[in-house]
Amino acid sequence: MMPTLVSLNPKAAQFTSKSLKMLIGGQWVDAISGKRREIRNPADGTVITTAPDAGREDVNQAVIQARKAFEGSWSKVKPNERAKLILKLADLIEENAEEFAHLDTLDYGQPLTLTSNFAAAAADNFRYYAGWATKITGETHTSSVPGEIFNYTRREPLGVCGGIVPWNAPLMNAVMKISAPLAVGNTVVIKPSEETPISLLRLGELIQEAGFPDGVVNIVTGDGPTAGDALASHPDVDKIAFTGSTAVGRKIIENSAVNIKKVTLELGGKSAHVIFSDADYETALKNAANAVFWNSGQVCFAGSRLFVERGIYDNFVSDLAEYASKYKLGNGFDETTVIGPLISAKQQERVLHYMDIGQREGAEMLTGGKALESELQNGYFVKPTVMANVNSDMTIAREEIFGPVVSAIPFDSEEEVIRLANQTEYGLGGGICTTNLKKAHKVAHAMKTGNVWINTYNITEPNSPFGGYKQSGLGRENGAASIDAYTEVKNVWVDLN
Ligand code: NAD
Repeated sequence: MMPTLVSLNPKAAQFTSKSLKMLIGGQWVDAISGKRREIRNPADGTVITTAPDAGREDVNQAVIQARKAFEGSWSKVKPNERAKLILKLADLIEENAEEFAHLDTLDYGQPLTLTSNFAAAAADNFRYYAGWATKITGETHTSSVPGEIFNYTRREPLGVCGGIVPWNAPLMNAVMKISAPLAVGNTVVIKPSEETPISLLRLGELIQEAGFPDGVVNIVTGDGPTAGDALASHPDVDKIAFTGSTAVGRKIIENSAVNIKKVTLELGGKSAHVIFSDADYETALKNAANAVFWNSGQVCFAGSRLFVERGIYDNFVSDLAEYASKYKLGNGFDETTVIGPLISAKQQERVLHYMDIGQREGAEMLTGGKALESELQNGYFVKPTVMANVNSDMTIAREEIFGPVVSAIPFDSEEEVIRLANQTEYGLGGGICTTNLKKAHKVAHAMKTGNVWINTYNITEPNSPFGGYKQSGLGRENGAASIDAYTEVKNVWVDLN
């Protein structure tokens, strides 16, 4: 039986029915080449709309406009006025929250409950950084130089900030690259994933409605190797904030050398989730599932390596497989859906390929694989998958799969699990389930990762720093960390003698 779907919000329907354009210098424009790219609905493979496919010159024009705004109109806007504009934008997002949720569900397939949360989080994020606009301070330093010397610092904006983001939470990923830079007086050129440009382009309309001067935020749509590369290697872009794969992160660093751009990177992960046998069993089961299947596992900090203490391993993985098999997969517009599709046919193939590799290397698939139901056939669905009998050397325990696949590994002691958890080139997330408080903190301190969740998972907030150790990233986003990342410190010495 075909599911009943929530009908598409009329404003979302209207927005996707028009010819989408890029926002450059306050104008809605096509790519100079006239090229466009199809945007597909991952739930059924149909084409939703098309978007401009920017070339290098389009990106160059966006940077020119961002520079003009930075040195001109935006530099005259006082911090309290910046705060007001950002707060107004947050209000507009809230007023249009349903439309944003629908646009993201249409574009990347996840259920409306999830995309509605992201729309609310987007407004929250802007409000948090609006508060910072009027709280940027410097310091005065005592001097021991003979005579009277006055020494103080100022925090100044960097200039033109580039943002490049992936498809796994289209609106929210983009907002994190816009809110903090605007609060401290920078201008922005941002590129969404070529798979999911829709909600960011709609945000562009609200940015104009809120009253930001032209060129303060510019949105270019296009692919990574052309538009992304043009932004990352542009000599007049002062900073790049990138979220995406570690492989592309490496290229961003290489490209930043052209003008020693400031760089922050939020990259891939292979996070360890450690279940001790003294954990509250039901909580641990729910956490283990939620940590890796939420957003169809397309989460940089997904708890994809599940370490379970040997005494409970067999029961736990079999209960997890049963739990996973009960998730309702489907179109995100079906209110009963919990797990949506993966973003593309390519990603679906990649994830299924990892399952094959895992089985060939000796792992056992307890549940999961390709979704075979007829109503899911045209979409890019993969069932929540539990792989058992995995060891840390297997490919599926080492490489990021970015899908709903968990590799369950047994362990015998606290020392062993700390060693295994840290035996990875990544260091983004980590989870611990135990009722022993001392053990929880000890293991949390020993994990070489930027984020650890104890008896919970997946929580992030705008006021709390987020980022990765090792090859999971460079720098931190959110909280005061983003203020540091989007400002320069100027040291001023004055001779008062
Ligand atoms: P990706 O690296 O392929 O693409 C991310 C973005 O970079 C896209 O906009 C893409 O167009 C662009 N890009 C691609 N090649 C480029 C190039 N040569 N120069 C400049 N830009 C380029 O990643 P993806 O497949 O879209 O997303 C999945 C990856 O993102 C996973 O590895 C995941 O872990 C990571 N991710 C990390 C975080 C985090 O906060 N750490 C959050 C979400 C996703």
